[in-house]
Amino acid sequence: MKSWLAKEQALFSQHIIAGNLPHAILISGVKGSGKEELANWLIQVIQCTQTISDSSQKDILQPCHQCKHCKLLLKDNYPDHSTVIAEKNSLGVDSVRKVSAFFERTAQIGTIKTVLIPQADKMTVAAANALLKTLEEPSDNSIIVLLSGERDTLLPTIISRCRLFEIRPPSGDILAQHINVSANNTNAFTNLSHLPELSSADVAAEYETFERTFFNYITKGEGRTQIVKMSLASPYGLRWLEKATTHAMRGANGWSKEDDSTESFSTLLNKDTLWHIYNKITATINKSKTLSQVNIQFILEKLIVDIDNILIHEQSQE
Ligand SMILES: [Zn+2]
Repeated sequence: MKSWLAKEQALFSQHIIAGNLPHAILISGVKGSGKEELANWLIQVIQCTQTISDSSQKDILQPCHQCKHCKLLLKDNYPDHSTVIAEKNSLGVDSVRKVSAFFERTAQIGTIKTVLIPQADKMTVAAANALLKTLEEPSDNSIIVLLSGERDTLLPTIISRCRLFEIRPPSGDILAQHINVSANNTNAFTNLSHLPELSSADVAAEYETFERTFFNYITKGEGRTQIVKMSLASPYGLRWLEKATTHAMRGANGWSKEDDSTESFSTLLNKDTLWHIYNKITATINKSKTLSQVNIQFILEKLIVDIDNILIHEQSQE
């Protein structure tokens, strides 16, 4: 298990012990963040009849791997759990109806029924709407776990009915420490490499160029056309805008490291202006959840116009 998941594991363990685990759980995190691992562990702990805890991590429950439930689960043969897999890259309404039917049945050998939907973001709109009913009228002793890599693509109505657990894998120095700790563990290392700009040198370089261009644009008003083009070209465009703005805010608040290039920008940036820009970006990200790619291009262009206006307003006040 990835070490940064311990916080979530401890939290889930507390809920299980207290008997107040949320009925609908949404775990979001980028590829490589470990959300599948965390979900599988959670399902096993929910279903295990004699959970244990390691002496090193007392606050984290572990499945015993010995009881009947554990053994059947490990063989993928446990009748009170169902994993719903997306077929052909999309999860249709029929699959979701099977979930409601599954929850309506009485548990066969355990007391709790669990459903895992590993690619919740692949749900069609019809499927998501069908799932809403299940989320709104939970049957007794049922727990549904949704996983999403791009939380932004889920319908807001789905998100609002789930308890959200966001996995934020470490970055920068802390990430480096994690890699060192597990230097012998090639598996952990390979998994980390799935984080796009943290580990792919190409994507990292792309992001750096993006951030530099963005800083130029917000401090000097240069490179506006490039920013629009780059945001649209990258699948992470909106998220990168958010990330770069967060980075700039850190710089403006004097939180960046000494060798950080944003330091030099910090005096040029006004905290309120950045905050306005940040809010515009997050509002656009929220809006983008329900839109097609064509419309995303439109709202992205509108976002840049909004940022232009915020920047012009700031200059006029100086
Ligand atoms: Zn067990």
